[in-house]
Amino acid sequence: MSLINILKFKCPKCKEGAIFNSNHQLFSFHVPKMHTRCDKCNLKFEKESGFFIGAMYVSYGITVAEFLMVFIIFYFVLKVSLLTAFMVVVGVIILASILNFKLARTLWIYLFYNK
Ligand SMILES: [Zn+2]
Repeated sequence: MSLINILKFKCPKCKEGAIFNSNHQLFSFHVPKMHTRCDKCNLKFEKESGFFIGAMYVSYGITVAEFLMVFIIFYFVLKVSLLTAFMVVVGVIILASILNFKLARTLWIYLFYNK
């Protein structure tokens, strides 16, 4: 399991095929389209129906980690007010939501991929 391949959202089997449609920007608010199968090795990404429901737990974990990191940096290091720190956290989480979605699904695919 290579971190670089996860961050590039590449297929766990061939490390070449893209899991998501690449023609969307990082901070767009369109839900990214997932390929059903890898276009290089034909690996099916959604193993069974409802497979990605579990990825919501991963997404939750990523979001909580981001929340804590941003909050600690702004409130305890930069010493902004509680309200400002909270608003920054909310802004960061909204901006990162699409990235979190893609990251959570990719991690979930890697977690359940057996060679
Ligand atoms: Zn592949």
